[in-house]
Amino acid sequence: MTPDLPRTLQEPTTQVGKADYLRIATEEAWCPPEMFDIYKRILDEGSIDDPGFMTMFGFYLNSGSTRARQIRDYITDLGAQRIAHMDERGIDKQVLFLTSPGVQVMPTAEAVAFAADANDQLAAGCARYPNRLAGLIAVAPQDPAAAAKEIDRGINKLGLHGVVINSHTFGEYLDDQKFWPILEAAEACDTPIYLHPQVPHKAMIEPFLDRGLDGAIYGFGVETGLHMLRIMVSGALDRFPRLQFVVGHLGEALPFWMYRLDYMHRAGVVSKRYAGMPPTERKLSDYLRQNIYVTTSGMAWGPAIKFCQEVLGEDRVMYAMDYPYQHGAEEVVATDNLDISQAAKKKLFQTNAERVFKLT
Ligand code: CA
Repeated sequence: MTPDLPRTLQEPTTQVGKADYLRIATEEAWCPPEMFDIYKRILDEGSIDDPGFMTMFGFYLNSGSTRARQIRDYITDLGAQRIAHMDERGIDKQVLFLTSPGVQVMPTAEAVAFAADANDQLAAGCARYPNRLAGLIAVAPQDPAAAAKEIDRGINKLGLHGVVINSHTFGEYLDDQKFWPILEAAEACDTPIYLHPQVPHKAMIEPFLDRGLDGAIYGFGVETGLHMLRIMVSGALDRFPRLQFVVGHLGEALPFWMYRLDYMHRAGVVSKRYAGMPPTERKLSDYLRQNIYVTTSGMAWGPAIKFCQEVLGEDRVMYAMDYPYQHGAEEVVATDNLDISQAAKKKLFQTNAERVFKLT
């Protein structure tokens, strides 16, 4: 045991036993070593002006701390070590994807090519463990047309199970209509988009940085919740009504805001005060309940999980672990022990994920 590690990064002392449902973890991370090499180059060149990326990967790539070394080791493995860690923690299947920010910090041509290569590697890795691993498609929003094609290839040629977008791309969000070919392709392929966090972009990060709040403690959630909300108020989900998003960390706080979002959205639309807030066909709570799934990544906390099940519905909440950033066996046990019905627990751990990501 290393005393400076958070409790959730310690190795499990006991194995987690079998349950009468499968435990499917739906926000799990992977990174080919070549992506770290590209990140090192980007950092060395100073070629992007992104303080959040520099802070985060300055740490993960260079730190000798136990946490950074473990993450570099665990995240690059797509084989026996990953499966052993799943076994130790009682995880039957991982839904995994290229770690944040993926290709979204690379020059456009490199991002498009690297996403395709990563998707090939991930599909091959999943094919070696078809009952244990299922991958999502990385895309480069920098080239929306290429991203749309890659979604089609990922679903129809590679057998992957959804799309991951790591929030903003150089400060731009998916509600901008130039990105809508990506939304259109996902809807056409009937596959969800996992809107995964990354650090706030340059225009937003300043007040987070000096208190160390730019990462997973708060900056990720603020950035990604804002992104999802921008999509909801933009009308994108009226244009693509069948499109489904998945949002981690129990919806990045949006379910908790649901009442106020509806009230103030209506007030803003009626007053015509905001040029960027057009009327939408449905209430914001309708989009949350009809177009958004949330996962429990990093939030192994009964009251919050049960709240989301109550306000979104049991069918809209899925289990996630967030390996290897957070992978404590005691969090699995805590979620196993939630005081909810067995039927609700099976939806949470297994059947919602099987349906949303078409795993069976
Ligand atoms: Ca994550």
